[in-house]
Amino acid sequence: MEEGARSCLLRFRHRLEQDIKPSYLMDHMISDGVINVDEEERIRTQPTRKDQAVALLELLLRKDNRAYISFYNALVKETYDDLANLLYDDLPQISANAHKSSSDGWTPHVQMVLSEGGVPQRPVVFVSRPELLNRVRERLYRLQKEPGWVTVFGMAGSGKSVLAAEAVRHQGIIEECFPGGVHWLSIGQLDKPDLLVKIQSLCFRLEQSLDSQSLHRPPNSLDEAKERLRFLMLRRYPRSLLILDDIWDSTVLKVFDIQCRILLTTRNRSLTDSVSGAKYEVEVASGLDENKGLEILALYTKTNPQGLPEEARSIVRECKGSPLVVSLIGALLKEKPNRWRYYLCQLQQKQFKRIRKSSSYDYDALDQAMAASIEVLPDEHQELYKDLTVLEKDIKIPAKVLSILWDLEPEEVEDILEEFVNKSLLFVDSHNKPYLYYLHDLQLDFLVEQNRTQLEVDLHTKVVRQYQQHYRDDPPTSGDEECLYWIRFLTYHMARANLSQELYSLMFSLDWVSIKAQIMGPAHLINDYVEYGPILDKENSEVRSQFQEFLSLNGHQLEQRPFPDVVQLALSQPPTSEVYRQALLQAQDRASKG
Ligand code: ADP
Repeated sequence: MEEGARSCLLRFRHRLEQDIKPSYLMDHMISDGVINVDEEERIRTQPTRKDQAVALLELLLRKDNRAYISFYNALVKETYDDLANLLYDDLPQISANAHKSSSDGWTPHVQMVLSEGGVPQRPVVFVSRPELLNRVRERLYRLQKEPGWVTVFGMAGSGKSVLAAEAVRHQGIIEECFPGGVHWLSIGQLDKPDLLVKIQSLCFRLEQSLDSQSLHRPPNSLDEAKERLRFLMLRRYPRSLLILDDIWDSTVLKVFDIQCRILLTTRNRSLTDSVSGAKYEVEVASGLDENKGLEILALYTKTNPQGLPEEARSIVRECKGSPLVVSLIGALLKEKPNRWRYYLCQLQQKQFKRIRKSSSYDYDALDQAMAASIEVLPDEHQELYKDLTVLEKDIKIPAKVLSILWDLEPEEVEDILEEFVNKSLLFVDSHNKPYLYYLHDLQLDFLVEQNRTQLEVDLHTKVVRQYQQHYRDDPPTSGDEECLYWIRFLTYHMARANLSQELYSLMFSLDWVSIKAQIMGPAHLINDYVEYGPILDKENSEVRSQFQEFLSLNGHQLEQRPFPDVVQLALSQPPTSEVYRQALLQAQDRASKG
């Protein structure tokens, strides 16, 4: 359903729930074919009229534009004129003409499909790359009749993700090829537990948008996740497109080798060698042609391309038209429009020399652009930006985590982050509420490079200390984005900070195990014990293996919801186990409190 219509229903939900008689309205809606008899039955069996009304609105919100219109017509027929008037202004247009709006096929319907699928919006400054775009779309059309893979490959920062998102921003593609919808998944470099978490949330997203009332427990292994996804894509979302952004590893692709339609972006052209089905590819040249590069600079500086100073052309040449670098410099020039010469010199000097195994990209140019972007920040914000070195690649964080790290009010943090975003030093995922912030992985590379060794240890230590100060002994358990971050990454920061004592006491604690298993599932926990095993073993390898064993034995139980009593589970461990000892103490404590 279009955003406007949905928002209208949400706004007037309570009014509607107060007044309507669902049984009359549903008769009309059934004859329009927008709800079925099962759905009607489910609503009719609610005990009171009000409950029925609540259930009908709930159902309606999950439906499409036609359902909104049918509901509106039903209100008119049943002479709820006042209520119908409330909905009138937001009636979606679904006549043939309304669907064919702008020349590049960008309709409200397309927008809605993309936004529901989590496809990123265009960057603030955007230039079209029509030839490339057509090439990607032409490949996507080949997936109209049969499943298969389209690989968009090219160097870092060459604009692959932007291109992939743009390719599906097209009415024909959405309606003719992928009427089942489009689902975007940012992958990046990740290990198996993280991949599992990603697919779990994809399954959750897909299942949630279905009408089905049944709530499945999340798949708890990659094999199970693959089967669940196979079922969902085949049976519930036929002819839909999955977009996998930034894939590094072919083992990731194998999980998606389920005979569906996939568009993926990657730096590695040969990833699809190991999967089956039809395969097509498009190479993204690393640089924009000169005019496009100039167009970006012109848009940032609000001049017309003919009016750009002579340095503009040299800047584009110097960074070989890299969209990322040109955009970074464009954002700088927007703030300081008389620094053309200065930024050009910075680019040319290339003071930062880095040795890289993959020299597939002009890293020098990027470093220059990054260094320059950071330099223009006020000193205290430069320090704050440096703290972002501790983030893991491709991890998005809410402002609240930084408000703890920086010990600043959330509002102040939001202002600072907005500044970073405006300077292209940080990206924001505004589909999510709260907004989530993340670095392009080249930016993170740059920060890590700059803050190597001791500094990095200090920065991680700061994270842990700030966390401890804020939460003392009471870890966050609410399950919101901030809490998720801490539960997931606290151990990582401790390990990187060489805070072994802290790591032992956290990971050898039944309370922590219980919290983390409840919020993230056991896969992440087990992974922690494997990953930090060498550190923990220095303290006590027996206790480490007791915890690990407890988790392996009870993994399936810890997946269950409602969540089991961990103390009870732990009491079935051998009495010599530390897990048992802690459980016994807690059980005694409970008993003494009655
Ligand atoms: P990749 O996925 O290849 O690493 P992205 O698609 O994330 O690269 O692009 C990197 C950055 O380059 C974007 O954040 C944006 O600032 C800029 N960019 C890419 N494509 C365009 C474009 N068509 N117009 C304007 N800027 C672009």
